[in-house]
Amino acid sequence: MDEFEIIRRYFERAVSDESIRVGIGDDGAVLRPDPNRDLVTVIDTLVSDVHFPHSLPPADIGYRSVAVNLSDIAAMAGRPRWMVLALTLSDSDPLWLASFSSGLFAAAEEFDLALVGGDTTRGQETAISIQVLGDVEVDKVLTRSGAKAGDSIYVTGTPGDASAGLAALQSGAPRNRDVDYIINRFARPTARVPIGQAIAEHASAAIDLSDGLFTDIEKLLTASAVSGSIELSELPLSSQLIRLMDEDDALRLALGGGDDYELCFTSAAGAEVFQDIADQHEVLITCIGRVNEGSESKNALLCTRNGAEYEYHHDGYRHFH
Ligand code: ADP
Ligand code: MG
Repeated sequence: MDEFEIIRRYFERAVSDESIRVGIGDDGAVLRPDPNRDLVTVIDTLVSDVHFPHSLPPADIGYRSVAVNLSDIAAMAGRPRWMVLALTLSDSDPLWLASFSSGLFAAAEEFDLALVGGDTTRGQETAISIQVLGDVEVDKVLTRSGAKAGDSIYVTGTPGDASAGLAALQSGAPRNRDVDYIINRFARPTARVPIGQAIAEHASAAIDLSDGLFTDIEKLLTASAVSGSIELSELPLSSQLIRLMDEDDALRLALGGGDDYELCFTSAAGAEVFQDIADQHEVLITCIGRVNEGSESKNALLCTRNGAEYEYHHDGYRHFH
C-alpha cells in the first residue's frame, strides 16, 4: 500500500464545512478563518516508546494524539477547528492504520475538528505530529501570564490517574476495574475544551497539565511573575487511585506524574462561579491554593500538607537535560 492509498483509505473523509476551501488532496489546505476571531495554533509530537508504549492499542494512540493537542487549545480558551497530521510509520499495517484513524477521528468528531491535510512518511519509529488550529474571540485568549496576587488556584479533574495508568501499562499490572480506569485516563485523556471556554471570562491565567501539576503551576506562576502555594490535603485524588496505592504515593503522582491533560487556572472570582461551571459540565473543579506576591523564577511554588511545609523534589519530564 503506497502513501496515496493510505491517505485515501484512512484519512480522507468527506467534510462539508464552508471554512475549508481546499482540503486533503491538493498541495496545501486553504482555510477561511472567521474575520472576527483570533487564530490559535498548537502542535504536539508523539513518538513511540517516548510518549506512549508501542503496545498501546492504535485507536488509543490516535485518540491521544488529538486529545493532547486539544488540551493546549483548551488552556487558551480556544475553539478547535482544523488539524494537519504528519505521520511517520515503519510499515503500513492496514489493521494498525484502521484502528489508529478510528481513534483519531473519534477525538476529532467530539470537538468538530476537521483533518485538512498532512504528510505521510516512512521511518524507523512511529511518530505522530499533529498541528491544531483553533480560534478565540478577539482579545479573549487565556494565557499563562495573567495571574495576580490574591487569586485562587484551581484544578480540574483528578491529577495523578494518568501517570499511574502509564505505570500500570508498563508493569503489566493485573487488570481490575480501578486499573482499567487509570489506564484509560492515560490512553484517552479528556480534553477540557468546554471548560476552557467556560472559565475564560473569569480566569486570569491557565495552563494545561502535561508535565506534572507542580511543574506546570510553577510555569504559570513564573510566566505571571508571582509566587503561590498549594495545600496538598486539598488535592482531589480519585477514589480509584486511593484504592490502588497509599496516600503518599498518590500525592506524589498527582504532583509530579504528568500526562493528566487537566486544566489549572487562577482567578479572583468567587468559588461559586466555578462550582456552577463544574456542575454544568459534570467536571470536578477544586480550589487547591493561592497566588502570592512576586517571586524569583526559582521556587515560585510552595507546598504545604495540613499547613506544614512539604518539600517537593521533581522537575517533571524533560526530553533534554
Ligand atoms: P505533496 O507531495 O504535494 O506534499 P502529498 O502527496 O504528500 O503532497 O499529499 C497529498 C495530499 O494528502 C495533501 O493534500 C496532504 O495534505 C494530504 N495528506 C498527506 N498525508 C496525510 C495524512 N497523514 N493525513 C491527512 N492528509 C494527508
Ligand atoms: Mg506538493
